[in-house]
Amino acid sequence: MSQPVVTRFAPSPTGFLHIGGARTALFNWLYARGRGGKFLLRIEDTDRARSTPEATAAILQGMAWLGLDHDGEVVSQFEGAARHAEVANQLLTEGKAYKCFSTQEEIAAFRDAAKAEGKSTLFQSPWRDTPASEHPDAPYVIRIKAPRDGDTVIRDEVQGDVTIKNTQLDDMILLRSDGSPVYMLAVVVDDHDMGVTHVIRGDDHLNNAARQMMIYQAMGWDVPVWAHIPLIHGPDGKKLSKRHGALGAQEYQAMGYPAAGMRNYLARLGWSHGDDEFFTDAQAKEWFDLGGIGKSPARFDTKKLESLCGQHIAIADDAALRQEIEAYLAAADQPALSDVQSRGLEAAMHCLKDRAKTFPELLEKAHFVLASRPLERDAKAEKALDPVSLGILTELTPHLQNASWSRDELEAALNEFAAAKDTKFGKLAGPLRAVLAGRAVTPSVFDMMICLGRDETLARLKDVTG
Ligand code: GLU
Repeated sequence: MSQPVVTRFAPSPTGFLHIGGARTALFNWLYARGRGGKFLLRIEDTDRARSTPEATAAILQGMAWLGLDHDGEVVSQFEGAARHAEVANQLLTEGKAYKCFSTQEEIAAFRDAAKAEGKSTLFQSPWRDTPASEHPDAPYVIRIKAPRDGDTVIRDEVQGDVTIKNTQLDDMILLRSDGSPVYMLAVVVDDHDMGVTHVIRGDDHLNNAARQMMIYQAMGWDVPVWAHIPLIHGPDGKKLSKRHGALGAQEYQAMGYPAAGMRNYLARLGWSHGDDEFFTDAQAKEWFDLGGIGKSPARFDTKKLESLCGQHIAIADDAALRQEIEAYLAAADQPALSDVQSRGLEAAMHCLKDRAKTFPELLEKAHFVLASRPLERDAKAEKALDPVSLGILTELTPHLQNASWSRDELEAALNEFAAAKDTKFGKLAGPLRAVLAGRAVTPSVFDMMICLGRDETLARLKDVTG
């Protein structure tokens, strides 16, 4: 049996959950969930000056919104500092790392001299092979003994084999003079100790992989499968930035995009499965693989996001959709729904969820069921209620009073009435929308009548006809 898959998302808590980070998390989540594996979450909080608890909370919230549940406890990288130092010391004991006593000034002087001679400025410590008996009693850092010749080959599932000449790698520091481990060491030790089998992350980390590889090799640990994914670009092909629009995953929640649509869209951002654009989570979990990740950066396309969101809203379960809309209202700092509104919204959902790309669009259509009498009308609705229309509505009222309240009957009654008036139903629709919703964009008149019921429909009619 092959080894169970373990992936991880390892954000640095320095801000909100970036849309690129959300996609990285999603890819790792899909890869693990589709293979019965584990998806772990590690907060890379070693940089104490830049890490904040607020950022960690924002990342967790963003992941919760996207439904990216992780296995086990959230791991704090900072809390593992003693273990990271232990590994550095083990390498020291084994002669794979060494104490370097060079001062900042000595290193700068080395670089200046190398530059003057036209040589590589990568620092080569004079302490690499100095026996311990000759060590001074002075502050030191622990450096790894990097290979001096040959190549390091990163086998990357997305980028292919990436070869780095070892002459380009320096004896990187593992432990600083204050005993604190460097980030590069912490990542490797954590990935190893957490049993991570697959590292899927942005290709801005590809250079780190070569240096991380040195630590794996020195420790004799298995190197995980690496997949460095191209970053996301804006529609103009430049790296995604604020001027392209929202960057925080949760800003998309506050704009009213459904999480399922967002997941679908983010999965397609840099990964493909044939020509499939719209798919469910179950399909994404089944289909997602590293081979489908593209080598060139994907471009963020809001239109495509909206189209997928519309399709996900259309197939969503009514109760789940109502709950998600209520969460959206809270996220967007908008007033919560009353119990009556909430029930009305859910009951009307079947006629609202078609052709709504976002929750604000859906709520606009839901206005008829959320508003209560007397309705306020917008300018367009007001215009539809001219004296002629009001006269027609007055005449229509007794027909509705007598109709049985089913869609077929209402349709028949209105068509019959229109025919008798020598007009088309279409002519009645505008004024009826104005009466029932106070808006021009609404679900069908019949859907509204059925949702509102006879009494409420007639009461709204009476409000305008007097
Ligand atoms: N903490 C790194 C970041 O937020 C990710 C490191 C990794 O995935 O190895 O970019």
